[in-house]
Formats: sequence, C-alpha cells, structure tokens
Amino acid sequence: MPLRAAEKALLEEGRRLTREEALAVAHLPLDDLPSLVALAHRVRMQWCGPAVELESLVNAKSGACPEDCAFCSQSVRYSTGVDVYPFLDVDEILAAAHATREAGATQFCIVVAVRGPEERLLRRVLDAVDAVHRETGLEVACSLGLLTEEQARRLAAAGVRRYNHNLETCRARFPEICTTHTYDDRVATARLAKAAGMELCCGGILGMGETLEERVDFAFELAALEPCEVPINLLDPRPGTPLQGRAPLSPREALQAIALFRLILPDAWLRLAGGRERVLGELQGMGLLAGANALIVGNYLTTSGRSADEDHALLEALGMPVAEGPGEGRFVVDATGAHARPARPPRRSIPVSVQP
Ligand code: SF4
Repeated sequence: MPLRAAEKALLEEGRRLTREEALAVAHLPLDDLPSLVALAHRVRMQWCGPAVELESLVNAKSGACPEDCAFCSQSVRYSTGVDVYPFLDVDEILAAAHATREAGATQFCIVVAVRGPEERLLRRVLDAVDAVHRETGLEVACSLGLLTEEQARRLAAAGVRRYNHNLETCRARFPEICTTHTYDDRVATARLAKAAGMELCCGGILGMGETLEERVDFAFELAALEPCEVPINLLDPRPGTPLQGRAPLSPREALQAIALFRLILPDAWLRLAGGRERVLGELQGMGLLAGANALIVGNYLTTSGRSADEDHALLEALGMPVAEGPGEGRFVVDATGAHARPARPPRRSIPVSVQP
C-alpha cells in the first residue's frame, strides 16, 4: 500500500510525497527493494527522462582545511596522508577540464578544501573559471565552502552555473559530524548561491550513522532548498578520520536510500558520487535503475573512481543517453569579459499523467 500511495502521488497526481508517505515507504522490508527500485525508476523517467548527466571534478586545492568534518581526509586535524597542495596553476586546471571533455562529461567542478575562499583564492578561481569557459565550453561549477553574499554574486557574474555546497547529513546528526561551523551556516550559503542566480548542487554523505528516519529527514531538508542537483556520496571510511571504523552501508541499504531520495526529490539530478564503487560494487548499474540520473566520472576528491569508459559502457548497456551540455564554443565571453550563459533546454517532462 505505501508504494501504491507513492505511485499515485508522484506518477498520477504529479505531486511530491509528504514525510509520512515517504516514511511509510522507507519502513517497507528490504525484501521489497525490487518494487521500490522499480517505482523510483519510473519516477525518474517521468519527471526527468532517460538522460544521465556526467561531471568531473578537479581538486584544485587539497588538504590542510581548518574545519573538522569527521568524514574528511582533507581536514588538517586528522593524520590521513592525503595530498596537500595549494591552488593549482590555471594550466593544470585547464588540463583537467580538457580531460573532462575527453571523458564525455559536460560539467566541470572546481573544488577547494577551505572553510571559505579568501580574496586571493577567489580571484584565482575566477581566473580559472574564465579560462575554462574560453577554452572548453564546459559548464563550470564551483565548491569553495562558505560564501558571503558578495562572493556569491561575483561567482554568478563570472558565469559559474552551479554552486556545490552539501549539507552533508541531516540537521539532527550534523553536530556529531562537524563542530567548526553549523548546519545553519551551510544552509545560509546554499541560499546565497541560489539567490545570486546560480543553480544549487546540495547533497551529502549517507552511512555516517544516521537512522533510516533521519535519512528521510535529510532528503526533505535538501528538498526544502530546491536544489537542481543532489550528490549522493556513500561513506567510504577514510583511514585516519574519526569515521574510519564505521561499516559502510550494504548495497541494499544504499539502493534503498537512492530510491527514497528519488521519490522525495523527483526532479533533481541525483548524482552518484564518492563511494559508489566501494559500496555498490557489482550493483553499479542498479544505482542508475534506482533513480540516480547523474554520475561523477573519473576520480573523486581523494579517492580513485573507475574509468570513464566503464561508465559509458554501462550507460550504453542501460540505454541511457548522456545529457547534452552547452556544446563546444557556445559559452560566449564578450569583449568586456561578460559571460553569456547558453540556454539549456528544459530537462523535466510534465510530471502529470494518468496511468492506464
Ligand atoms: S568537508 Fe570541506 S570543509 Fe569539511 S574538512 Fe573537508 S574540505 Fe574542509
């Protein structure tokens, strides 16, 4: 019955689930997972269509972050052996952007390990964004930590299409995961990014000790921010971090979570990110049949991913096309240095249809 109620709401009435409806689905036994996955896939197809968005990251400044996020090997507080280096040269970032193109991705995200960008770093990021736009035509996203309103405006003015700022986990669990900034700090930056005109990419990491109910709450807390994209990382415990001894989610728990996120966030790009190889293992393809419709290709920030060719082969096997980006040369930078954003066709199909 809970699945039928969710099906009726999402596929026939074209409305979102209430928390109670989502919790009823979450409490179904894991043996019902195939039915949940099937519904999540239908919701994804009706609300988003078959396309899969591919993105690559560059870890443009690694390690030595002053914050204490318990899952993160880049915090200066933990001995993790992670690479530590300052902001990369523009040429190195351009090389990563060209590799992104070659990997068939359309989104390129510049990530730095900081609490928030100081002025010198922000200027270097803006220069890099400009260079990537001019040379590759890729859509550029940034993940630079906590922002001020002015910083958000400058990033948007530079043509940064999407800003990543994860909530990481649900409000109730956040104080166990981070003590150097608050959940509300994160929510504030997510709102600033949107208010400045950037698309919001906002997700987190599953498997950090949250209960199933808290996982559902987390999805609703994300939905309240109306993100364009929701990255789902599956905790791959990093040696040296406080979470190093935590057992990863089982593949079935991970698939259940992905499917629940699709039901609660029916029109978002739901991106499988770090930990998918470790946690899903042989069930990689199932993640894309359980509602996910976006992937990080290539490496993650501090861990290696599988090859882009393997992911393209998987998409071909599943009959899922790669989402179109702006295309070479369509990102226009005029003589004044102003950036004109390419128009993007609407991704979402009309969600309301009556089932036979
Ligand atoms: S998650 Fe980000 S803010 Fe937190 S420690 Fe890692 S790099 Fe720093």
